[in-house]
Parts: sequence; structure tokens; C-alpha cells
Amino acid sequence: MEYKKIAQLLFPDIKLSENDIYKKYPKRNLEDGQIVTRFAPSPTGFMHIGNFFQAFISYNLAKNSNGILFLRIEDTDEKREIKAAKQVIYDVLNNFDIKFDEYQTLDGKDVGNYGPYVQSQRKEIYKVFAKKLVEEGKAFPCFCKKTEGKEDVLKLREEKFIYDDEKEYDPCRDLTYEEVKNHIDNGETFAIRLKTKNKGDERIKFKDLIKGELEAKANAKDFVILKSDGTPPYAFAHAIDDTLMGTTIVVRGEEYISSTPAHIELFEALGFRPISYCHNPLIYKLNENGNRRKISKRYDPESNMLYFNENGYPKESILEYLLNMINSGFELWRKNNPEKDWKEFKFKVNDITTVAPIFDLVKLNDISKNIIVKQSGEQLYNNWVNFAEKHDSALSIILKSDKEKFINLCKMDRDGQIKPRKDIYNYKMMKDYFDYIFYKPLNYEIDEDDKEKANEFIKSYLINFKMPKSNEEWFNDVKVIAERLGYAIDNKLFKLNPLNYKGNIAKACEFIRVAITGRKNSPTLYNIINILGEDEVRSRLNIKF
Ligand code: GLU
Repeated sequence: MEYKKIAQLLFPDIKLSENDIYKKYPKRNLEDGQIVTRFAPSPTGFMHIGNFFQAFISYNLAKNSNGILFLRIEDTDEKREIKAAKQVIYDVLNNFDIKFDEYQTLDGKDVGNYGPYVQSQRKEIYKVFAKKLVEEGKAFPCFCKKTEGKEDVLKLREEKFIYDDEKEYDPCRDLTYEEVKNHIDNGETFAIRLKTKNKGDERIKFKDLIKGELEAKANAKDFVILKSDGTPPYAFAHAIDDTLMGTTIVVRGEEYISSTPAHIELFEALGFRPISYCHNPLIYKLNENGNRRKISKRYDPESNMLYFNENGYPKESILEYLLNMINSGFELWRKNNPEKDWKEFKFKVNDITTVAPIFDLVKLNDISKNIIVKQSGEQLYNNWVNFAEKHDSALSIILKSDKEKFINLCKMDRDGQIKPRKDIYNYKMMKDYFDYIFYKPLNYEIDEDDKEKANEFIKSYLINFKMPKSNEEWFNDVKVIAERLGYAIDNKLFKLNPLNYKGNIAKACEFIRVAITGRKNSPTLYNIINILGEDEVRSRLNIKF
């Protein structure tokens, strides 16, 4: 009886009952096997790759089961203005085409019947359930102040606590109605704590959909379920929201495994059915010395999902790479189905890796090269322009000013080629990769010993230069000059007697290549010459190494 009076004292304004809330959140009508899952990021202004990993797994589980995916913004911890931080979440999800069935738009409209989809707008709901727990004697108000740094208060607290590593009963757990009333009349604020029913020696078993059956110490602490400002810590909000919103599988990082016993106790106290968990592994990186460590915001720029957009990775590259990390079967599937869309690859919960995935940029780049090489020249140009419009406006102006030229550049060594080059793994690198198109070379990859010969050859080539009409014509022109100057046209003859020649025809081509591009390696020169145009080629050939 006391409990009811205490609850009323603590929450005089809460008129709704738990049943009123249930009416607003009816059970979802699901067909067999349909999964309802969610992505529940906190708006920190930063989307970690590990968070996105969960979003992507949830997305796939919902999609593959014809289920429902919703987005819930967990903003009860945030004290500052979070609009910009929310924007980061929406931008990243949008960049990667992760679409939700239910969510709240950035300007605050709920799409779906289980909203609000933003926790700070659900405070009343949490209070209804906190009140109910107090009424039932399963939770209690705690008036202890924040005591950090105050030795005397800390000592007092320690004396009153029954504390032995395993359990932590709060001194306020048995306050009488009168005592609570005194605190309230003094104008004191309070938090609500769960009154744990455990003694500290219990163990609890629970099933994880990836890791199988797990066993851990049961919770034996009177932990806070509602802070003094009325906001719920993660555990309480999770229990209430995932129950009311009809989540069937909670996909979250494995850092939550250790607090799962507390969550299970909370579900029980609230009278909720337990929920299925899918704790997925954290993402690691290898140090230079081969040791693994968690991928970190501090040391690894690629831990930030925006990194991939800023560097112009196609979204498919990242998604395919994540699929690779999630499920080792994907690599084989991709090999056998090189043309299929990744969306056709279906994985189920128990296909998710139990091994900690290791992020490897080289592997990602490899996957990305294979994705970019499938784009036609025109598609590559369009993607490059899209990237430049967002991240390099000066470049976008240049690319758009001579569309045909740059489309031809992108077509080089891809459209119509039997074996297109697989060098490009993101759009950002293209400016450097094709730097010779934008600028005259600043440096030349020419060996000291070759300089004299190269000068002689280039001079002669320039005098005789005319714009070639085909690759053959271009090569023939080079051959004529090379032969005249003493280069071997037939490589077999050259190999038999190299001292008889200044070099072979490949060497002669290398000189032209270096003069025009600065490099010993480049795509087909005939194409480059056409893209640069006669005047530019002549001016580049007018060089002395
Ligand atoms: N807001 C929590 C986080 O960002 C969500 C965890 C969960 O998915 O339940 O870690």
C-alpha cells in the first residue's frame, strides 16, 4: 500500500496507466519468420563503422525476412543541440541507401504507428512504467546526491551500502513513505532505481542468436532506471521501447553482452516477454606488429562512415566489403555470381560471423576496384562529377567544362577493352591518377642515362608529329622515326643483339610517354594524345630532360 502512495508522491502528473500505453502500441501482426528490427543510434555527431555495421545487419535481416526495419534516435543522453548530430545519422544512412519502414523525419514527422521514434519525445512513457514499478515495490526513489569528490559523503554512502563487488544495494531502497515525503517536501530531486531481487551469487543463461547460449552473473545492483531529470538510461529505454515497438530481434554490439543480465531482469520486472538478441562482433584492425585492436575513432579515419563518402568510394564497395566481414560465404558467392547485385545475396542471423572481423583497407580497395571497373566510361564520368560537386567544386567546374574530353578520359582502357585496367578504387584518387590531363608534368620519370637519347628522340618525334587517326597509325609513325634513329622494331632482333641498337621500340614509346605524362606507365598513349589535343601535345613534346 505504501508503494502506491510513494509512487503517487513521485509522479503526481502521470495519469496514464500502463494499459493506456499498450492500447497505443498494439501487437504487430506478423507472419511466420518476419523479423522486426531496428537501428537505434545515439546522435553523437559521428557514425562509427561499428554502428553502421549493426544498421546494415538489421537492414538485411528485415529485408531478407520481408520484415520491418525502424530507426529510433536514442537522444536521452545528449545535453547539447543535436540537430546537426542527427543530420550526420540521416546523411550516412541515406548515402548508403539504408531505407527504413518507420522513422521520424528530420523535421519531426513520425512515419509509422509506433512513434515517436525519438526517445526524448517518449519521456512520459518511461515515467508511466517507472511509476508502475514503484507501485509494485520493484523500484524506489533514490535521493543520494552526486557525491564525487566529497570524502565525507562518500564514506557515509559506503557505510550504508551493502557492497561486495558482486552486489550493490542502494541505501534508499527501503525508505518509508514518511521519509520519501520529507525529501520531497525539502524540494530534493530523485532518481528511480530498480530494486534488484538478486543476492549476488546467481547466474543467468541467455541465448544469443550469433553466439548461442551464454551464461553470466545475474545483476545484483540497484541500478538507475530514471535519472533525476526524468530521462531513462539505456537499459530502461531499451526494455520499454523495444517491447512497445514490437522489435523481435535486437541487433547491437557485443559491448552490451555484459549488461544483458540487467536488461533481462528489467524485462522480468516490467512483465515483458524476453526479446532475442543478436550481439555482433566489434570490428578490429591489425597493428603493424600484427596484433589486433579495436578500430578506433582516434587513430583510424576509416572508423568514421563519412570517410568513405569524402574519399569517393562507391556505396556498393563499402556494403560489399561489410558483407564480406559479416559472412565469409559472401566472397565465394560473389566469385560465382560476378554480375549479380549484392542485394541478391541473402544471409540469415546464424550465418553472421562469430569471429571478430578485421578491417583491411587493401581488401576494401580491391573490392572497390572490381566494382568501379564494371562502370562504363560514361558512368565513371558521372560518378566522378557527382563526387566532385560535393567535395571538390573547382574540379567539378573543370570536369563539366569539357564533358566530352573527360568522358573520353574515363572511357580510356575500359569501354571496349578486353581487359580493362583495375587501378581506380575511389573517385577522389582520380584527380591524381589522371593528373597529367590537368597539368603539364612537374616531374619526369626518366633515368639519368636515358636523358640524352630521350631528348634526341622526342625532338625528332615532335618535328614529324601529326595527330594520329588510329592507334595503328600512331604506332607506325613512332616506328618510322624509331627505326630511322637506330631503335629495334623487332624485339627478337633486339634481344639477340641489343648493342646494335639505341633501344627497342618499347623504349622509344616510353620516352614519348614520359614527355607527355611524366610517367613510365599510363593508359594507351594514342588515347591520351587525343584527349589532350594537338596543341597541348606539341607543347609537352617541346621539352629537354
Ligand atoms: N543507442 C545505443 C548505441 O548507439 C543503441 C544500442 C542498441 O542498438 O540497442 O549504442
